[in-house]
Amino acid sequence: MIAINEALDLVKTKCSPLLKETTKPLEKAGGYKLSTNIYAPINMPPFRQSAMDGYALNWHDKLTYTVIGEIKAGDNHQPILKKGEAVRIFTGAPVPDTANTVVMQEKVSSIDNTIKLDDSVEIYTNIRTIGEQVKKSQLALAKDTKLTPAAIGYLSSLGIKEVKVYQKPTIAILTTGNELIEPGLHLEYGQIYESNSKMLLSTLYSLKFYDVNIYKVKDDYNETLNTLDKVIKEHDLVIISGGISVGDYDFVGQALNALQVEEHFYKVKQKPGKPLFFGTKNDTYVFALPGNPAASLTCFYIYVFTALQRLMGNEFYKLPRIQAKSKSLFKKHGDRPQFLKATYNGNSVTILEGQSSSMLQTYAICNALVFIPEELSKIKVGDFVEVILLPV
Ligand code: AMP
Ligand code: MG
Repeated sequence: MIAINEALDLVKTKCSPLLKETTKPLEKAGGYKLSTNIYAPINMPPFRQSAMDGYALNWHDKLTYTVIGEIKAGDNHQPILKKGEAVRIFTGAPVPDTANTVVMQEKVSSIDNTIKLDDSVEIYTNIRTIGEQVKKSQLALAKDTKLTPAAIGYLSSLGIKEVKVYQKPTIAILTTGNELIEPGLHLEYGQIYESNSKMLLSTLYSLKFYDVNIYKVKDDYNETLNTLDKVIKEHDLVIISGGISVGDYDFVGQALNALQVEEHFYKVKQKPGKPLFFGTKNDTYVFALPGNPAASLTCFYIYVFTALQRLMGNEFYKLPRIQAKSKSLFKKHGDRPQFLKATYNGNSVTILEGQSSSMLQTYAICNALVFIPEELSKIKVGDFVEVILLPV
């Protein structure tokens, strides 16, 4: 049995960024990382642009100007302004080469074709110069940049329609258990509805991992072995649920062994989620999570989340942790560090009832986990505790 931090370090060091490339249409590339540098195909802005609604003028030493025309956004004419002449202009419109400033309309009084400027007006303002954001052929975004919504907007403004990115992992979820049946079927005595696959799938979707396949096996050694063999060959990451404990019908450990999946750790000193396995075979990462639904989900958030971030080459590979005041009293039994279902309201944190690893009822309304380290046995109301914010 190893400590949480050792286990997390192993996940961090064993998982490295996937470097397979793919091309994505820009609108579907959010969350991916660029696999190549992108150089600007155009100047941005491509022409001198007015940053204001007002008047573009050719400066002279008086405050009055003659207005000789109008240019609105999208127009393409280039009036030639003599000194002392101006054109009415609007935000985003091309500023004529002969204009050296744009004056906002609030700083101007106008009578017929003549405008008079306030004394406070400054020259060389309110014009966005050609290539002010980025010049043609300059580096627009560097390789490895994660494509945020702003990055998608920026590349789109440069006329780019598709990008080369690193692939996200292909993921298999494999559930085990004779007792599990599909929601929708009649529940016989001894059966329960299978819930972990949809829960884990939903977590993956919420983190924008969409390439996920679900497999289900009975508590049968050969079926477990054969399915595991196939899914390991076909995916970058395999997440197994259940069958990893020490019961007579837990066949996952035996199958992992037979398939020569290299074990990095099995069993972590924590509650819930003690029987957690992490290993690799060739280029595939394998997690076996305990079947108890709450334990499964907590192990996902703490360990699989980290693995996913590492595979994506992200710098932040843990969920955000903050310190907050506890509104609850809590006594820890035993010495295992504990992750507790909790709600955080932006200020303080409440530890919920129903902490059993089989219970999802309170997990369903929780948005945080409180971490109780090994050395702490009691939390009093008002104590500061470590809160892990869940991506819910
Ligand atoms: P196991 O880890 O296989 O010993 O399972 C521990 C507990 O979790 C048992 O009560 C199982 O019935 C339950 N369980 C395992 N897998 C699932 C699942 N996919 N959905 C719901 N409950 C499960
Ligand atoms: Mg089982």
